[in-house]
Amino acid sequence: MHPDLVAISNLWQADVTIDRLKAEIEGLIRGETRGAQRVEEATAAATTTKTTQLDVRKKVLANEQDLNSFTQVRDRTRAMLSDGSAPNYAAAERQLVAAAARIDTLETEGLELLEALDVAVAAQKAAEAEKVAALAALAAAREARASREAAARSELVDATGAQLDVAKLLPHDLRAPYAELRRKRRPALVNVAEGVCVSCQTLVPPHRSNEVKMSRALHSCAGCGGYLLP
Ligand SMILES: [Zn+2]
Repeated sequence: MHPDLVAISNLWQADVTIDRLKAEIEGLIRGETRGAQRVEEATAAATTTKTTQLDVRKKVLANEQDLNSFTQVRDRTRAMLSDGSAPNYAAAERQLVAAAARIDTLETEGLELLEALDVAVAAQKAAEAEKVAALAALAAAREARASREAAARSELVDATGAQLDVAKLLPHDLRAPYAELRRKRRPALVNVAEGVCVSCQTLVPPHRSNEVKMSRALHSCAGCGGYLLP
């Protein structure tokens, strides 16, 4: 390999190692942040669904109480009408009709409320389950971070030191084009297969490939700027 290509390759490997470690550390932190966010959302949802469930339950109870009292009114009125003890027969009849109508409405509402309660209970159950899962995921993310972050940071310090050492060995005229490749997040080294750059499919003149293979010259791809590997 051409000595300049060796210098680029060493620097590239050092930079890739640094990128990988940084991404790993960011991933550990992001995992915990997202885990905490999920717990927060799940806790809020569990609280909301519990409140909803309790509200619906209260409405069910109120409906049952109303139903009981109107049933009593209806039954009492019906008894007074049948034993002739109603002080005002016509008023008692109207009261009976009104009570029966109210009972119909309350029974319909009661069925709807029971359905709503089923839905609210299921939602609360699901929210509680999600909260448990979120807490477990957060614990796992914290565990992953605790067990790896310090070592990864220490590896990053070493890798950064090693990168500085190999960066010094890169010839001056290659520093700007290398930095440009890094800035564009492009690979600094590219393979050539069947006469084209594997990275960007640009044709590579055979004499260039040959010079690279014979370690006679350093060439970069005309398309992506990556340095051709032998
Ligand atoms: Zn290319």
